Amino acid sequence: MTDALPAPSAPFDVAVVGAGPSGLAAALHLARSGFRTVSIAPKSPPEDQRTTALLGSSVGLLQHLGVWDALAARGAALRTMRLVDVTGRLVRAPEVAFHAREIERDSFGVNVMNRDITDVLSTAAAETPGLTRLEGTVETVTIGERLVRLETGAGAVVEARVAVAADGRRSRLREAAGIGIDTWTYPQSALVLNAATEAAHDEISTEFHGPNGPYVLVPLPGRMVSIVLIEKPEAAEALNALSDEDLGRELERRAHSLLGRMTVVGPRQVYPLSGLTAKAFGRNRVALVGETAHVFPPVGAQGLNLSLRDVGHLAEALVRARRSGQDIGGAETLAAYDRMRRPDVKSRTLGVDIADRALLSDLLPAQIARSLGLALADRIAPLRRLIMREGLAPSFLTPRVMRPERPRRAVEP
Ligand SMILES: Cc1cc2nc3c(=O)[nH]c(=O)nc-3n(C[C@H](O)[C@H](O)[C@H](O)COP(=O)(O)OP(=O)(O)OC[C@H]3O[C@@H](n4cnc5c(N)ncnc54)[C@H](O)[C@@H]3O)c2cc1C
Repeated sequence: MTDALPAPSAPFDVAVVGAGPSGLAAALHLARSGFRTVSIAPKSPPEDQRTTALLGSSVGLLQHLGVWDALAARGAALRTMRLVDVTGRLVRAPEVAFHAREIERDSFGVNVMNRDITDVLSTAAAETPGLTRLEGTVETVTIGERLVRLETGAGAVVEARVAVAADGRRSRLREAAGIGIDTWTYPQSALVLNAATEAAHDEISTEFHGPNGPYVLVPLPGRMVSIVLIEKPEAAEALNALSDEDLGRELERRAHSLLGRMTVVGPRQVYPLSGLTAKAFGRNRVALVGETAHVFPPVGAQGLNLSLRDVGHLAEALVRARRSGQDIGGAETLAAYDRMRRPDVKSRTLGVDIADRALLSDLLPAQIARSLGLALADRIAPLRRLIMREGLAPSFLTPRVMRPERPRRAVEP
């Protein structure tokens, strides 16, 4: 500590930096687990057109936090997931549809706008005792032996035993903790927007797998879908340059008029696809959650679902440390958190990477392997159920609060 800095208030147990969906969920869960918590973030989140399919185990955590009903009311249920091969290649995969009822679920989850997720979590955070909210951007991070000290651009100072870095992919906290990253890029961009449709989606999410990436139409409430269209970067930019009318026609053409006429609603965004994995999930009194720790291409709706499992495991590691009288920001606690997260993040990163690259590959063996995999998934019921369950959450190493009740009996499609 230097004398030049303003004096901090009494130290918090936990300071969560960043109030995107990961940071808000972390602040809520940790405060409700009995940790004196402060959430630090700038006021208004940037405009976000993305939606998130909150799947499987995420529902468990969000129910535990008491926000599931409010989220479900703003989203659309996903009861069927359909994959259609439109690569036009010599070897094509069969059309495959997965139904939630096959694994005795009412739905796989709910698709909600990201801004609705942050809105619902913010409202819950404001009503949570033991959770202080501080508006500001953390500019300076000083890691001490017992505490981490954070100073905002406006000069507010906070000390905590552990800082949770939820400040996104360009995290200042991750850098201050000396945690390196592996990054990579994909030769694709995602065009993201919402559209009104002439026909009802019937709670079916459809993925058209084209030669340059998937084109995904995910249900939103009413006759609306959220669209993620992955293309070569120049093609995504060209689509984005179209008028709303022309883009609507092109979206309908690419969807083979499945949902009839399509009308662009609201702004669009283009995201160049990239990946990132942190070399450690915690070190030097800083624990990473969400995109601070892992960034994925939007294939298979994994990103935020994985982030919520970060939150579940972090709370578990901190509660265990508190119970056994250990330092909640100490090296042992953060190493335990790292061990909990590594297999889940690694396996999901690899899975998404393989799925994307297999689609892009022009090599015949890759096309055959992909088609064969989907053909088997289409025909072999136990394999279908395994894929559905593992797609929702890994059966191993899921945080306790997010573990599903064991299914009573599987139902044939
Ligand atoms: C096109 C697309 C579609 C996707 N679809 C899905 C999906 O269907 N399912 C899914 O699970 N995931 C999906 N994802 C991924 C998901 O959107 C992200 O994982 C999620 O939005 C990241 O949330 P976050 O809270 O980790 O980070 P962010 O939302 O980036 O939040 C970071 C926060 O930190 C704040 N901040 C930054 N620096 C500071 C600082 N110095 N001090 C204080 N605050 C700071 C920022 O203001 C922001 O509020 C998709 C991603 C894309 C690109």
